[in-house]
Amino acid sequence: MNNSIITNDITIIGAGLSGLTLAYLLKDSKYTVRIIEARNRLGGRILTKGYNSNKPIEMGATWLGNQHTQCIALLEKLELEVFNQKIGDQAIYEAISTSPPYLAKLPPNPQPSMRLRGGTEQILQALAKKLNSNTIIRNQPVVRLTEINDIIKIETPDHTFTSNIVVSTLPPNLLVSTIEMSPSLPQSFIDLAKATHTWMGESIKIALTYSEPFWRSNNLSGTIMSNVGPIGEMYDHSNYEESFFALKGFFSGNYFSITKEQRLAMVIGQLQKYYGHQAEKFLHYEEKVWRNEPYTFVPYNDHVLPHQNNGHDIFQNSFLNGKLIIGGTETSQRYPGYMEGAIHSAHTIAKKIILT
Ligand SMILES: Cc1cc2nc3c(=O)[nH]c(=O)nc-3n(C[C@H](O)[C@H](O)[C@H](O)COP(=O)(O)OP(=O)(O)OC[C@H]3O[C@@H](n4cnc5c(N)ncnc54)[C@H](O)[C@@H]3O)c2cc1C
Repeated sequence: MNNSIITNDITIIGAGLSGLTLAYLLKDSKYTVRIIEARNRLGGRILTKGYNSNKPIEMGATWLGNQHTQCIALLEKLELEVFNQKIGDQAIYEAISTSPPYLAKLPPNPQPSMRLRGGTEQILQALAKKLNSNTIIRNQPVVRLTEINDIIKIETPDHTFTSNIVVSTLPPNLLVSTIEMSPSLPQSFIDLAKATHTWMGESIKIALTYSEPFWRSNNLSGTIMSNVGPIGEMYDHSNYEESFFALKGFFSGNYFSITKEQRLAMVIGQLQKYYGHQAEKFLHYEEKVWRNEPYTFVPYNDHVLPHQNNGHDIFQNSFLNGKLIIGGTETSQRYPGYMEGAIHSAHTIAKKIILT
C-alpha cells in the first residue's frame, strides 16, 4: 500500500468481534467497507493461543450461553460448533486463608456455559474468510480523525484515509484517550467515556497444560473457586477432542507489574495446595496480562466499577454531524462487555447504516 489517500464509504476502526461482524453484515450492501486494525492480528479481546495446532487455549473470550441469541445465530450461520464447559458437581472451594480448602457442592446450572469447538478464534477466521481479502488493513493504529466538510480524514502513523462514515469499535475509554479528534467530541461524551469500564481490561488469564487430567480424579472436575487467590476461578480447559489437557483460570489483576516467573511460582504454589506435586509437572504455561495491552486498556482517571456506563444512551448517538458512529461491546444495550454485546452492537450499527 502506498501513501495515497484511499476513500471508502465506511471505515471501521478495529478488527475485533464487533468490527468483523459489522463488516460481514455490510458486505452485500451498496457501501464499500474497510477495517483499520492497530495490531498485526485480528480479534482484539479474543485471543486463542495454540489455535493452529488444535490445542486452543483461550486468553480472552471463552464462554457463551443459550441466552446469547445473536451470538448463537451467528455461529449457526458460520457453521461453527459449541460444546459444554466441564464444571462437575463439586468444586474445590477456599473461603478464607485461615481455613483449608474444602469440596463444595455446585448448584445445578440451567444455562451451561459453552465453548467453541476448535477455539473462539474460529469465529474470527470464519468472519474474515467472508470478507474481501483487502478489507482489513493491519498494523495501523488510528491516531487522528478530522472532519473535513462531508468526509472524515483518518490518520495512522503511515497512512491517510478518507471516509464518509467512520465506526469506532474501541472501548470508549480507549477511544477518547488515544485518538485525537478535530473538532473535539463534546466534553460530556469524553467525561462519560473515560468513566466507562472496559470489560476484562484489568484481567490476567493463566493456563497450564498437562499430559494427564489428574484434576478429574476423586469425582472432581478441575473447578476451583478461591477467595484467597491469587487464582480466583479455574476450570478444565482441555479441548473438545480431549487430545490435550489443560487448566485455565483468572489470576488476580493486582499482580500485573510482577514478572511472569513470579506469577507462575504463585500459580504452582496455589495448585500444590489442592493437587500436591502433580501440579508442578506441567508441560506449558501461558498467560495474558490484558492491562499491559495498549490497544485494549488505558487506565481510568478515577475508580470505575465493572460494567460502569456500559450500554449508556450517549453511545447510541452519532457525532461529527452523523459521520462518526460509536460501537463496540461496551456500547451495546444487550450484554455489554460480552461477545453477545459486540455482535449486538454490530447489528444495531448495520441497521442504522443500511436504513439511512
Ligand atoms: C480475559 C477476557 C475474558 C473474556 N471472557 C469472555 C467470555 O468468556 N465470554 C464473553 O462473551 N466475552 C468475554 N470477554 C469479552 C469479549 O472478549 C469482548 O466482549 C469482545 O471480544 C469485544 O469485542 P469488540 O470488537 O467490541 O472489542 P475488542 O475486542 O476490544 O476490539 C477492538 C479492536 O480495536 C483495535 N484497536 C484499538 N485501538 C485501535 C486504534 N487506535 N486503531 C485501530 N484499531 C484499534 C484493537 O486492536 C481490537 O482489535 C472476555 C475478554 C477478556 C479480555
